[in-house]
Parts: sequence; structure tokens; C-alpha cells
Amino acid sequence: MKKMKLIIGWLYPDLMSTYGDRGNIIVLQKRAKWRDIDTEIISLSVGSSSKELRKSDLIFMGGAQDRQQKIVAEDFRKGKSEILKEMIEDFVPGLYICGAYQFLGKYYKEADGTVIEGLGILDLYTENPGINVPRLIGNIVFRSSFLPENTTIVGFENHGGRTYLGKKVKSLGQVLKGYGNNGVDGSEGAIYKNTIGSYLHGPMLPKNPHVADFLLAAALKRKYQENIHLQKLDDELEIKAHSVIVRKLKIRV
Ligand code: GLN
Repeated sequence: MKKMKLIIGWLYPDLMSTYGDRGNIIVLQKRAKWRDIDTEIISLSVGSSSKELRKSDLIFMGGAQDRQQKIVAEDFRKGKSEILKEMIEDFVPGLYICGAYQFLGKYYKEADGTVIEGLGILDLYTENPGINVPRLIGNIVFRSSFLPENTTIVGFENHGGRTYLGKKVKSLGQVLKGYGNNGVDGSEGAIYKNTIGSYLHGPMLPKNPHVADFLLAAALKRKYQENIHLQKLDDELEIKAHSVIVRKLKIRV
């Protein structure tokens, strides 16, 4: 059988990557390699072409602060935004963390009221209620609603923006401990087709290998047009790391 290969497009690795977001790329690469699947990582920073972006079978973009979000917004407007929209609509899987997640929505209103236009791909918007309102910071656990058996997902969040979902997207699940999208309605993240937006840094995937496999399986299925049964891996360490956070937050699952 021909060896499978995935091209992973990493959007703005130099600008959008905080709290170890880069670890998500390493996990995707390793979990593919352990199954004898090749990967190629392409860096898509400011000035990169839409043609490069289009090559991606799977997309990752991490979080950042407002300053970087503005630079990225400008670069996106030079052609990449339309392509990304087409790709997301065409089920290209992707993981977008925090600032990147906010960016997929309609807009992000900063603490001083400045509005950064989003890509408008996901039916959601984000507003920062102002510098006098506390940021939403800490470890978080939520129960997924898009994975089999509604497994828990753990991570670390730090955001001033509060995200509100519209009807065309679903949340990733319900918060058991932490804040999630806005600290009020109990939802965390959003899923649309194969695109995942989430507030979870940490990075997210090392402690949540089930999310990594969701993305890999979706990318392989789309590329090779067949149902992929990912070979099971020994995830003892990953599950231990996951459970430590769950226990630390005194969650009963
Ligand atoms: N600037 C955004 C906020 O504070 C995103 C933060 C992040 O990506 N960590 O809401």
C-alpha cells in the first residue's frame, strides 16, 4: 500500500504561538509518524502565498496577544482569508487556539473598544469587556460533545475576550471547571465541519491525544477518500497527564 502523507499548514508560527501552542504541531507530527504516516510542516507566516496555504491537508494556528492579532488580520486580507474560508467550508480540518479561534469569528472587540474584523467564517463574535474586568485564567476541564463517549478535554486558558456562539456552530462541550467561551454560558470552543476553535493552551494536544486523532483521522479521510481506522497507540503517559489535571481540579468523571 502506498505510504500516506499529510501536509500540515502552520499559520503564523512566529506571531501566533503562546503557552506552548507549538506542542500541538509536535503531537500531530509524532502521532502520524508512530503510525508510519509521513508529514510535512509548512510555515505560513506574513507574506506567504495563498497557494502554499491551499496545499495544507490540516491547519494549525495558535494564540497571541492583540498586537499580533492586528498584524495577522492585515496579512490575511491580502488574499489568504478567502482561501481559508473555502478550505474550511471544504472540510479541511484545523485547530485554532484562543486568538486564532477569535479570529475565525465575525470580530474581536479589544478592551479599549477597538474592533479587529474577523474572517467571518464561524458564526461567533468576541468582546473584551474592558481592562477593569478580570481576564479568564486557569486550568480548565470540559466534557466534549463531539468525541465518542463524550470524553473530557483539559488545558489552560488565559483570555480577556468573551466569545458568544451563533446558531451555525456548535460548542466543543460543557465546562466542568474553568471559564470556557465567556465564563457565563458554560460552553467551551466551537466546532464547524472539521474545524475546531478552542481557548485551550497548555498546549492542548499532548494531554488530549483523542483530539489529535480526531484531526488526523479527518485529514486522512478527506485526502484519501476512505474511512481511516487509526492504529491504536500506547497512550498511558498522555492519559496520566490528562488525569492529573482532572484530579487537580477535583472533577469526578
Ligand atoms: N488577545 C486575546 C484575548 O486576550 C487572545 C489571547 C490568547 O490568545 N491567549 O482575549
